[in-house]
Amino acid sequence: MDGDVVVVGAGLIGLAIAFELAGRGAAVRVFDRGEPGRAASWAGAGMLAPYTEDVADEALLAMGVSALGQYPAFVERVRSASGLDPHLHLDGIVHAAYDGAQLESLKRLARRLRERGVTFDLLDRSSLVSSEPWLGTDVVGGLCIHGEGYVDNRRLGRMLAAACIARGVTIAHASSVAIECDERRVLGIRTNVGFTAAQAVVNACGAWAAQLVGPPPSCVPPVEPIKGQMLALSAPVSLVRRPTWLPGAYLVPRDDGRLLVGATVERAGFDVSVTAEGVHGLLHNALAGAPSLAGFAVTESWAGLRPGTPDGRPFLGVTPIDGLLLATGHHRNGILLAPATARSIADLLEGKGGDELEPFGLARLGTKLPDSRRTTAV
Ligand SMILES: Cc1cc2nc3c(=O)[nH]c(=O)nc-3n(C[C@H](O)[C@H](O)[C@H](O)COP(=O)(O)OP(=O)(O)OC[C@H]3O[C@@H](n4cnc5c(N)ncnc54)[C@H](O)[C@@H]3O)c2cc1C
Repeated sequence: MDGDVVVVGAGLIGLAIAFELAGRGAAVRVFDRGEPGRAASWAGAGMLAPYTEDVADEALLAMGVSALGQYPAFVERVRSASGLDPHLHLDGIVHAAYDGAQLESLKRLARRLRERGVTFDLLDRSSLVSSEPWLGTDVVGGLCIHGEGYVDNRRLGRMLAAACIARGVTIAHASSVAIECDERRVLGIRTNVGFTAAQAVVNACGAWAAQLVGPPPSCVPPVEPIKGQMLALSAPVSLVRRPTWLPGAYLVPRDDGRLLVGATVERAGFDVSVTAEGVHGLLHNALAGAPSLAGFAVTESWAGLRPGTPDGRPFLGVTPIDGLLLATGHHRNGILLAPATARSIADLLEGKGGDELEPFGLARLGTKLPDSRRTTAV
């Protein structure tokens, strides 16, 4: 690569792209109007769970499965560049059922997993209670999907920022950012501190991607914020060892004993307040499935904005403006999809590969796009 790349947005998506590009020799600058890694990428639960999410969209599922396979090596690369550990655990995800209908639905999920060659354990009541004794006694059975797991996404964000800097990436704060382009190609970005020329600019602004100033309407992805509230309990370390899905809530452990309870899914614009109704609903559902958690202190609550799209797929790849790329709209799976997104966007910028991004392009909105290989290589 022989030109400068600017990434707008220092969430996990923008940072992972910058890290990957810098590893391939590109000169990369990342601009964010906030603190790197502090938006949705900080608020998320960190589950790496393409099968648990039971995504019906084959292209999205394939990308999630590919990303899950890439995670250990990705984490290792970031760890060796940063010297930090993001606490990756791939020991499976548990689903608990409390009545016959819920158990039947888990059995249907198990049948779909078997068809895909995914390994799992169907758990009867006694084996589930003996492996997860903190679950309520009225649990009737469950399912454990092997190979899925979680990462501490807050640690991963800090780690990726450090790893980017170690690879020579500049991460800059800019209170205002506007894309500059002529009729054909991107020129760079103008921030409150001046103009930065670039061969390529990547819009990685998460839930705010449609608000980024400058691009013509044909380059604006229809991304909208989907609010998610969560809270954390202080639980004994290793009480809950694996992410566990209960009806209406999920629990995700952390190595320091925090037990995350998530998450609401709300259309509330850019509001990130934590509401009584949100917290009440999460605690009600969590304690219905696991009354033994009732005495633990609530230590934290927060809300974040998932970048949602009309069809649930992210927008990845080229736009009608040469050199202006999209990497946004990852909705519920951006932490999972970060390494696969980074690899594909870097391939595209190097003028190779990128075919796997076709289902995620603006063309699905009817937008006419240039030939990606000819127009994006820098
Ligand atoms: C409650 C909750 C639970 C979740 N759980 C999971 C999970 O278990 N697993 C999973 O894979 N995903 C999960 N997600 C989804 C995941 O967090 C997101 O898909 C992912 O973090 C999106 O990353 P991003 O980098 O695109 O966006 P963000 O992390 O939101 O980063 C976008 C960045 O762009 C910056 N920005 C925006 N506009 C501008 C601008 N104009 N100029 C400069 N900078 C700008 C912002 O300041 C921000 O830093 C969850 C999300 C939430 C909210």
